[in-house]
Amino acid sequence: MTRTILELEDAIGALPADARAAADRIFTVSTTTGRLNAPASMHAWITKLFGSVEAVSTQHIVRVTNKVTLEGALFNDLRALRPIEVKGGEEVRKTIDSAANDPFDKPLEGTPADTFGRIKGAHGVTASNVAKYDGYHGVLVFDEHDPLAPVDAATIRDHLETVKRWGEAALADDPAARYLFLMWNCLWRAGGSIVHGHMQMTATRGAHYPRVEALRRQALAYDASTERDYFDDLWLVHDALGLGVEVDGARVAASLVPIKEREVIVLGRPGRDLTSLAAAIARVVTAFRATGVMAHNMAVYLPPLAPDGEDWRRFPPMARLVDRGDPANRTSDIGAMELYAASVIATDPYRVIDALRV
Ligand SMILES: [Zn+2]
Repeated sequence: MTRTILELEDAIGALPADARAAADRIFTVSTTTGRLNAPASMHAWITKLFGSVEAVSTQHIVRVTNKVTLEGALFNDLRALRPIEVKGGEEVRKTIDSAANDPFDKPLEGTPADTFGRIKGAHGVTASNVAKYDGYHGVLVFDEHDPLAPVDAATIRDHLETVKRWGEAALADDPAARYLFLMWNCLWRAGGSIVHGHMQMTATRGAHYPRVEALRRQALAYDASTERDYFDDLWLVHDALGLGVEVDGARVAASLVPIKEREVIVLGRPGRDLTSLAAAIARVVTAFRATGVMAHNMAVYLPPLAPDGEDWRRFPPMARLVDRGDPANRTSDIGAMELYAASVIATDPYRVIDALRV
């Protein structure tokens, strides 16, 4: 039986009691139907695009809200039915190849160093970002130019280890810069201004970035009001619904409230460092590539590298990865709905998790 997100309400209703209770604590789910009348003159076009006029006349939309974080998604089966087409593949390949011999190919000459020097890994070296987001803003320049080169757990682990050492160097330079944030903007559609493979990291002061701090507070409030661990419950629900897979001890979930297409959440174990996410991240990126995803974002949330007096005990190292769509498509993947209301999603999380099982 192929499960779909359209049956989410029923699937939650059929869960074992503990998972069902966790689902009710975290999520609200509703299903609605949108209808329209298409004139005969449109039928051929509709049939060509969506398979049948009936498919468009009655559309089922599943709305999921995370009551703890107030993240929300709207899944439309019609959008989910559309075949994935990656039109930009060849053009992207050409752009990547023609971008070779860039400053990142000779980072020691082409990029500035941080005041505390460079951190070298087996597969990359750090640079200081020229136009900074924050007081400490570095780049991990991959040895490999091609941002779509295959990745494996060992390479990702090396990158994460290098980033961790960069964060420790920043902390040694300024003991207040204890909040390390890691991001990966792969290709221009995901906000990457340089094609050559790279990640970026910042170290900030005072408090963690607002989205991270908000999640910490929401999880603490959840723990206080339910006497349950938020991250354990989040995993319990996804796993019980068949939307989770464990990779090297990390919990990988196809999100029920994805920020945009194919969002995957990787939950590590509290107290472990970011390198514990390596194999899971490699699995997600490899699955993305196999599905035709080229442009993607990744963010890694971490507790501070040194105690800040706040309660981070249950906050796990975690990564969020999202598909940003076809690089050849001129229509942005996000609009006013995503910026100001809720995310509109075409990809079924069940197909996302299918791709993650190997
Ligand atoms: Zn390059």
